Amino acid sequence: MLDIKIEKTTNPKPIPGPEDPLVFGTIFTDHMYVMEYCPEKGWHDPAIMPYQPISLAPSAMVFHYGQEMFEGLKAYKTEDGRILLFRPDKNAERANNSNRRLMIPEIDPEDFINAVKTIVEVDQAWIPTKPGTSLYVRPFVIATDPFLGVRPSNTYKFIIILSPVGAYYPEGLNPVKIWIEDKYVRAVRGGIGEAKTGGNYVASLAAQIKAHDEGYSQVLWLDGVERKYIEEVGAMNIFFKINGTVVTPVLNGSILPGVTRDTCIALCKEWGLPVEERRVSVEELEAAAKDGSLEEVWGTGTAAVISPVGHLRYEDDVFQIGDGGIGQISQKLYDTVTGIQLGKVEDKYGWTVE
Ligand code: PMP
Repeated sequence: MLDIKIEKTTNPKPIPGPEDPLVFGTIFTDHMYVMEYCPEKGWHDPAIMPYQPISLAPSAMVFHYGQEMFEGLKAYKTEDGRILLFRPDKNAERANNSNRRLMIPEIDPEDFINAVKTIVEVDQAWIPTKPGTSLYVRPFVIATDPFLGVRPSNTYKFIIILSPVGAYYPEGLNPVKIWIEDKYVRAVRGGIGEAKTGGNYVASLAAQIKAHDEGYSQVLWLDGVERKYIEEVGAMNIFFKINGTVVTPVLNGSILPGVTRDTCIALCKEWGLPVEERRVSVEELEAAAKDGSLEEVWGTGTAAVISPVGHLRYEDDVFQIGDGGIGQISQKLYDTVTGIQLGKVEDKYGWTVE
């Protein structure tokens, strides 16, 4: 494992107090982690330094062809003052899956996790403690060769920044309205949908704006070929409870394999619920919504953990799920996962890392 050089800021910023608003992704801590890559040295010289702008040539490859990867996870402070990360090994593994797909050199998972632990420790005073708050961790890699040809870059930067974030649901879980998109697609099998990279998110913007304008909070994507099978939501995976069975789209190459998705599958199985990872067509959902067998729908992701879905819209049809409120499994998953993350519920699986 590489040694991380630490240079602390001499000019610390004021840390938001418990009553200050924490709008997602707007406030950054005092430090950042940076590690460089070149073919001669591999990944080298990891350092924590004061949070500051980075200097890149305008020709840096990331600006032109989007060779970049990012991750997202959270650090939590428990009531007894411990700092917990939730399944950072899964983020390290997914980062390397993305890296391989994007022709970015892999990062030793030990160095990835050590980097996250060290930067969180350095800026631990920034971890908010009000219920539902946390410190969002954003690792990312960018291609830095000053070159306009299309090929993988030879040089890269791996950076981690931190942002204190507020409670996603300050007043408790809140059902969301979801728009099933039938014109635009996010990703196709064989493309980059299962990698966590900017290109997938820029591809989603036009539909997201359209859905917002119609009063829907997120887009539910269909497969890129037939536009028939459900894939995932903008920044969440999706689950359905149909006739007592928990169903989620199978990872088919165009869906991001969510850490929260994996966590929810394990918990539902532990609770004795039948779980199926398979193709789910929008027709099946429409039929299940009409005959009353669609009992619950929820999204899973790091940001909100669980988002109960109250309404779905497909073309001109709007279907309400159950009574449009919070389903029983959604609530139980939310309570259990957030309980484990905060060290309040027994961590049988060893998911948290101190
Ligand atoms: N799908 C997409 C497209 C996402 O951006 C995210 C958020 N990372 C997820 C699913 C959920 O993944 P996770 O549970 O790892 O946050």
